[in-house]
Amino acid sequence: QTDSRVVLSARGLTRDFGGFTAVNKVDLDVRHAEVHALIGPNGAGKTTVFNLLTKFLQPTRGTIHLLGQDITKTAPDKVARMGLVRSFQISAVFPHMSVLDNVRIALQRPNNLAVQFWRPLSALDRLNERADALIAAVGLEKERDAFAVDLSYGRKRVLEIATTLALDPKVMLLDEPMAGMGQEDVAAIAKIIRNVAKDRAVLMVEHNLSVVAEISDHITVLQRGEILATGNYETVSSNPEVRSAYMGT
Ligand code: ADP
Repeated sequence: QTDSRVVLSARGLTRDFGGFTAVNKVDLDVRHAEVHALIGPNGAGKTTVFNLLTKFLQPTRGTIHLLGQDITKTAPDKVARMGLVRSFQISAVFPHMSVLDNVRIALQRPNNLAVQFWRPLSALDRLNERADALIAAVGLEKERDAFAVDLSYGRKRVLEIATTLALDPKVMLLDEPMAGMGQEDVAAIAKIIRNVAKDRAVLMVEHNLSVVAEISDHITVLQRGEILATGNYETVSSNPEVRSAYMGT
């Protein structure tokens, strides 16, 4: 790759289900410190692309590289340990524990290299310090001591982002992070996503197009398993095919 900011890339990514091609020759570049949105109508192949990138599904054809390494044949748990992490799927939240304890547990997961590294130092102080920093980063200070079960739906998803962030992923995949949320929670998540992307890549599937337009550096539009358009908002929204698919013009 010539662009050194590319941390995740797919080339010719294809997935057949029987005789049906759900994802067809998709090329995708996800860059460090960018929010990249994957959009498209239902059935376009967005979920399949996510499953292929995280290796929950094997591609029929094509290659995937993460941080310069070929992960086309790598197992999903290894891919996660290499730094590609999908939120809302692997981040289990313990309902009858506080927000703080949930974050502390996530920070202590055995595969968390960032934490193991400094464990020999004053471990508990450092753990609490890092937990508080994470809670502050996602704006959960007020709910710090509340049980996860008592959080609203929107705040619970923020906690899930925090526990995913605890793994210090290099690429964070977010599956419809704003689905089913009210305006206030949507605004909070939008801000968190921008914040999260300051020092990692974010790839998200999201249907809220006004928020996608507002916070994305890069947008890829999928239609019937193929890329219809990719680029920044101006590029994508001025594409005639995108306009006819989305705006009926
Ligand atoms: P999106 O997430 O954009 O709504 P999906 O990736 O879920 O789209 O699905 C893309 C297409 O692939 C759909 O037509 C869907 O029915 C089909 N598909 C997805 N998973 C499977 C599967 N396991 N077996 C057969 N067809 C599938």
